[in-house]
Amino acid sequence: MLVRNAWSRLGAERLERFLDGTPDIFAIPLEGEAYLVYAPLHGAAFAATKGLVAALPAVLAGEGGEESVVAFAREAGLLKPPRSAVTRRQGDPSPTEVTLFLTTACNLRCTYCYASAGDAPATYMSMEVAKQGIDFVIDNARRQSAPYVGVNYHGGGEPSVHWNLMTESLAYAHEQADGIPVIAASAGNGVFTDRQIDWMIANLNGGMSLSFDGLPEAHDKHRPTVRGTGSSGRVMHTMRRFTEADYPYAVRLTVTAEQIPLLPDSIEFVLSNFTPKRVQVEPAYQLGRHEGKPDAETEDFIAAYREAQGRAARFGHELIYSAARVGTLTNHFCGITQDNFCLTPSGNVSACFEAFSEDNEFADVFFYGSSGPDGYTFDMDALGRLRELGVEQRSFCDGCFAKWNCAGDCYHKSLSANGRGEFAGSQRCHITRELVKDQLLTRIAGSGGLLWRDGQDGEPCTLHGGGSE
Ligand code: SF4
Ligand code: SF4
Repeated sequence: MLVRNAWSRLGAERLERFLDGTPDIFAIPLEGEAYLVYAPLHGAAFAATKGLVAALPAVLAGEGGEESVVAFAREAGLLKPPRSAVTRRQGDPSPTEVTLFLTTACNLRCTYCYASAGDAPATYMSMEVAKQGIDFVIDNARRQSAPYVGVNYHGGGEPSVHWNLMTESLAYAHEQADGIPVIAASAGNGVFTDRQIDWMIANLNGGMSLSFDGLPEAHDKHRPTVRGTGSSGRVMHTMRRFTEADYPYAVRLTVTAEQIPLLPDSIEFVLSNFTPKRVQVEPAYQLGRHEGKPDAETEDFIAAYREAQGRAARFGHELIYSAARVGTLTNHFCGITQDNFCLTPSGNVSACFEAFSEDNEFADVFFYGSSGPDGYTFDMDALGRLRELGVEQRSFCDGCFAKWNCAGDCYHKSLSANGRGEFAGSQRCHITRELVKDQLLTRIAGSGGLLWRDGQDGEPCTLHGGGSE
């Protein structure tokens, strides 16, 4: 069943669920007369009766109330000023991490690839383009006395296909960094040779994010090689090698509509056989080769995710869904609002992992710089517009209890789904809110059943774990 009606309804009623006069403290109805109260900026969530919800606004406004309610509000931290979750970059961009889109070529032909890799002639980055980007971030890191320099490898295609540049550019970064630590990471499809796996274990010290869809039959249906054969055997070999080496890797499962029922078994398969540090699950986006295909952002997805989470918990794992991030307090869903510095094979600067080439439909939104013999030239108007896309600027998100965890979700997806008009949410909003609710209830249960207090913030967006989505 589609969730569109459900999220529209939630959006329309959201003000009724908002504790009057106390912004960003939300009362979310549960079964019967019970409520879940969530105060993200105070780092608290608790189960409440209707009576407590009715009594809280006066207490929070300092107008007094029953002593027990005042005491509880104090214990929950609600009487202290809220934390701020808003940051905003200013001035010239000065990134200390670069993401290199090495190539649009790929050795797989995934049916849901957002990049439609392999459908158009491939482009390859040159060493000069990579060097210029690496020099720039090293200079910035040196000037800012940054603790490390980041070098990341990503799509449009499969980075390891442009093998020489991957290995040579990282060696160059180490040479130039001259004592500044280099942290290198990559997304990838897992179809690697043993020689490549050896190099990755020895050199990609920031880890590898692999796309693997779980049960081999589920994976092979959507992730064939260029020759049309399944790729699960190769990816599982890579994961076994990574596991034996105790190498840090993450797995990302992409779920198409017809594979939703397989999700719990897929999660069980991954966690009983391999040892990823993180397991991320996302419904397939209707982009690239998957455009127009059946929608996976459904109530059935939420139900399957819940069952899969139950199984994952037996292995000590909490599954990751990129927009449901309790424990992260932020106004940025991803790096597009934070000067993400990604280079295309031509040396142009994009903020978005999906806008990996100049002919992307939304290149005018996400590209904000170009390279020349004298270095980079930045379009400060374009960058300024990106910096202003934080969740605090989106009126649609204003009354949403997931706002400081989700932070407005993927902007590229919003553009693809809703066009360039004002942000109007998507079917993912309902999924996000349901999963945030689950995470809060799990944390409350784990803290004794009444009150959960959170001390953390700040985690990067994890939407782009895998090479081909
Ligand atoms: S995009 Fe995220 S923050 Fe905005 S309304 Fe949807 S779920 Fe809430
Ligand atoms: S999360 Fe969305 S907007 Fe952000 S980098 Fe990825 S595709 Fe682009």
